[in-house]
Amino acid sequence: MSVRPILVVGNPVLHQKAKRISQVDKSLQKLIDDMIDTMRAAPGVGLAGPQVGVPLRIAVIEVDDEVTVIVNPEIVKRIGDVELDEGCLSVPGYWGRLTRAEKVVVKAKDRNGKDFRVSAEGLLAQALQHEIDHLDGTLYVDRMSSNDHLKRQEPLRKREADQLAAEEAAAEAAQAAQDA
Ligand code: ZN
Repeated sequence: MSVRPILVVGNPVLHQKAKRISQVDKSLQKLIDDMIDTMRAAPGVGLAGPQVGVPLRIAVIEVDDEVTVIVNPEIVKRIGDVELDEGCLSVPGYWGRLTRAEKVVVKAKDRNGKDFRVSAEGLLAQALQHEIDHLDGTLYVDRMSSNDHLKRQEPLRKREADQLAAEEAAAEAAQAAQDA
């Protein structure tokens, strides 16, 4: 298990459609574990394959201490509209307001390749839509009517982010030393 670097806006992998996963195998399990570690270290609510440079249709989400792994997910139902504030680990330092479906039903395979459906509302519904967008090469900023609506994160959040980045860099250096 390890924390992988997160790509930021402008990297071509983030702006292309990810490929379907044909086989849920051992290397995918390793990727899933790394993605969960990376999401938690960031910290973030969700992380999609393309954000760690893997152009495959996979994402991990953690809401209320529950991890949801979605492989080849599809939104099969959208109910209602809601305005939400949103941010993205690949657009560091900003947040914005956009409209999303209030509730969604998503079908996907889980980390063992088993089909499942999830009906979600609240943060989980938002995260599912955000992560599935990533798999289609869409960032939340692409869904905003204007970048004028993009807001800088408050200084406190920024300081926390810097602190985390410093800790991550230190952890990475330690890991690199171990790996060397
Ligand atoms: Zn994102």
